[in-house]
Amino acid sequence: MNPDRREFLGWGAAAAAGAALAPGFRLIELAQARSPQEAASKLQRWGLLIDITRCGECDACVTACHEENGVTGHGRPETDAQWIRKVSLRDKRTGYAQTLPLMCQHCEHPPCVDVCPTGASFKRDDGIVLVDKHTCIGCRYCVLACPYGARSFVHEATSGQKPDVPRGKGTVESCTLCVHRVDRGDTPACVEACNKDGGKAMAFGDLNDRDSAIHKRLRAEPSSQIRADLALNTGVRYQGL
Ligand code: SF4
Ligand code: SF4
Repeated sequence: MNPDRREFLGWGAAAAAGAALAPGFRLIELAQARSPQEAASKLQRWGLLIDITRCGECDACVTACHEENGVTGHGRPETDAQWIRKVSLRDKRTGYAQTLPLMCQHCEHPPCVDVCPTGASFKRDDGIVLVDKHTCIGCRYCVLACPYGARSFVHEATSGQKPDVPRGKGTVESCTLCVHRVDRGDTPACVEACNKDGGKAMAFGDLNDRDSAIHKRLRAEPSSQIRADLALNTGVRYQGL
């Protein structure tokens, strides 16, 4: 995907309709999806800061995310689920090109939650936006509503599922900020991989904690939101955009 900057900043999602319920096994959803208030606190707001000047052509974040979450494809990029993807931006006038990782922006005011007819899309108190696959009916309203194209519909039977990350055909999914890792005190897999094997472009932390490294950087250094004009107050911030 290589939209130029103008197309990217004016981006809208594609459409689809109709879906079947998840497959015949009981999806053991994440504890936070069953009882989101148990694990989350309004005192925190988890977020990411991504310095795209350090983000080159590597795919360490994408590989780590999909490995961590058992997101396996079927060799059909147009329909395979993507929780995170690298997007290339090019300024048409100057030719200047940048790449950045794009995933669910964990909006404070998430349109995906607003439009969901079943309450399957929800935001935890700590700002992480999730889908409860028990109640998702696959209508894909949220796919349409998300301005970042962050949600994927699972078109085909899943395999290689991870115990912490249930997936199911006929439901919608997106980046969970590796909520299962966050709840045990770890960083998301993409951040870990970027800092180990990539450009050290990604940082994770509590946007509400003035003593956190991410808060200090946001106070001291310029950053921006993608589609800030939508006033969704994203939990993912970028530098060098
Ligand atoms: Fe919802 Fe899209 Fe915002 Fe994520 S980026 S919270 S899926 S509207
Ligand atoms: Fe809600 Fe999206 Fe599932 Fe529809 S597809 S029920 S909008 S989470």
